[in-house]
Amino acid sequence: MSKYAKVSEALTADFNAYDKFKESYQSKFKVSPDVRNFHEDFEISYGKNELWDRLSKNCFSCGSCNLVCPTCFCFNVKDDMKIDLKTGIKSREWDSCMIPDYGLVAGGHNFRPAKSNRLKQRYRCKLKTFVDKFGAYSCVGCGRCVEACLAKINICEDINAVKEEVSL
Ligand code: SF4
Ligand code: SF4
Repeated sequence: MSKYAKVSEALTADFNAYDKFKESYQSKFKVSPDVRNFHEDFEISYGKNELWDRLSKNCFSCGSCNLVCPTCFCFNVKDDMKIDLKTGIKSREWDSCMIPDYGLVAGGHNFRPAKSNRLKQRYRCKLKTFVDKFGAYSCVGCGRCVEACLAKINICEDINAVKEEVSL
């Protein structure tokens, strides 16, 4: 006997069950982000510092949003030298564009010392740069970052806030 389940033609009842599941699933979404032309809106919003200060006001710079995100991929490379200064370990570690040290470079300069800049960078990467380079958002709308954020920062609400700001 085959270990695989028998495949059969989908019946009307199966399609109805699928539609019902989809409807119930979609009804659980609380916020609908308006992503139409978002990458253009984002560019216009870029210099609106008051908006970005407001959106990032409660951010703890913890980086949890990046760590749970299925599309974030940034990493850092760390060298740990042993005391003999001849051997050591080079390791690759997850990094987060939301933590203060992310923009820190040799010489002590930090390219993004303000959390408003870091939030803007996170959204820019996902919702603008990826669209420009690959024609798609680097966000699948899973909501994991919203669940993980203790400050209740919500990417969907922020997308709508940007849209509202540029439409004023
Ligand atoms: S999880 Fe929330 S508080 Fe933490 S860095 Fe991300 S947006 Fe800020
Ligand atoms: S909603 Fe988007 S940004 Fe947030 S965790 Fe999912 S893919 Fe990442």
